[in-house]
Amino acid sequence: MLNRGYKFRLYATPEQEVLFGQFAGVCRLVYNLALEQRRDWWRQFKANTGRSISYPSQARELTQLRAEFDWVAAVAQCCQQQALRDLDRAFAGFFSGRSGYPTARKRGKDDRFRFIGRECPWRKINAKWAVVRLPKIGEVKLRLTRDIPGTIKNVTVTSDALGWHVVFSTEVEHDAPQNFGPSVGIDRGVVHTLALSDGRFVDMPKERLNVLDRRARKQARKLSKCKRGSNRRAAARKALARTKAKMARVRLHWNHERTTEIARTYGVVVLEALKTRDMTASATGTAENPGRNVRQKAGLNRAILGNAWHQFETLLSYKIAERGGELRRVNPAYTSQCCAECGTIDKASRESQATFRCGHCGHTANADTNAARNILRAGTQPAPRYSFGGR
Ligand SMILES: [Zn+2]
Repeated sequence: MLNRGYKFRLYATPEQEVLFGQFAGVCRLVYNLALEQRRDWWRQFKANTGRSISYPSQARELTQLRAEFDWVAAVAQCCQQQALRDLDRAFAGFFSGRSGYPTARKRGKDDRFRFIGRECPWRKINAKWAVVRLPKIGEVKLRLTRDIPGTIKNVTVTSDALGWHVVFSTEVEHDAPQNFGPSVGIDRGVVHTLALSDGRFVDMPKERLNVLDRRARKQARKLSKCKRGSNRRAAARKALARTKAKMARVRLHWNHERTTEIARTYGVVVLEALKTRDMTASATGTAENPGRNVRQKAGLNRAILGNAWHQFETLLSYKIAERGGELRRVNPAYTSQCCAECGTIDKASRESQATFRCGHCGHTANADTNAARNILRAGTQPAPRYSFGGR
């Protein structure tokens, strides 16, 4: 069984957007009230009775709350029940050690509500547009950028700095086919976002991201100068949030396109296990590799790259599994210093950020392509044939 989410932009009327805000607000309130209740129950009674509040008991209290307050009853009950289910899941995660203690939902950060899929029928208007019928809200237009295969399990309406969106979570019966596609090694780097072992390079839209990054920095500086609680500060915060959301969208779009293409082309993909050091390396460089990080500063912000690499791996892992392929991660040791032709390891072979020239056999290649070939070999051959050479 495969679970997938499909996100589309909503084109709601102003009246519908007011309702969205109301739904999100009430669901957040229900969530936070229930959280408070569980927290106090936990503090006061858990030690004595060994029992904790459950979803059914809170759902019953929700029915009473709806009877008492019209503005609570104005919001579809299933959304409120879904909020309670979220809380139930958050506590289950906490008690099993998978996640931290649930925290309150915040306005502006957790503006969302969820319906059960069968309560929200949707239909296409034409190739580009569709409508989804939401209980107590009505039909809302959405920009249909792709098909929604499978059974829709639930429908979430969410808000970010760019507006309201809808996410259809689906479930598909799936048997992965056997995949006999070719193998590839991929080096994630700074000069090229991705270097493939077959010599191809794939790059993020760096100019676009750099422009947005500079804008975000400028907006952050402006925000820090605004007086607390002022209207200017609120506007500055909104502007910064929009820019950041745009950057995230550019990155996600790029990663979706690349990972789909790679998962379609290859049966086995080998990546380096990411080093956290790479994500946090300072621009001043390390003693071991002084030139490298200095040069990286000229390129894309490290944090942007780090996020993109992680996202790439997450998307690729499910897309490739879906096609019966395999994603392997290997130890990154020596991949940049080893000759892909003869296997000699020599720091001096890495002539520059761009070029690899083996001092032993004379093999010359793009340094990232050479690394990608080493990654491929590490993931597809059992024993490395390293030998250390020096000049
Ligand atoms: Zn060599």
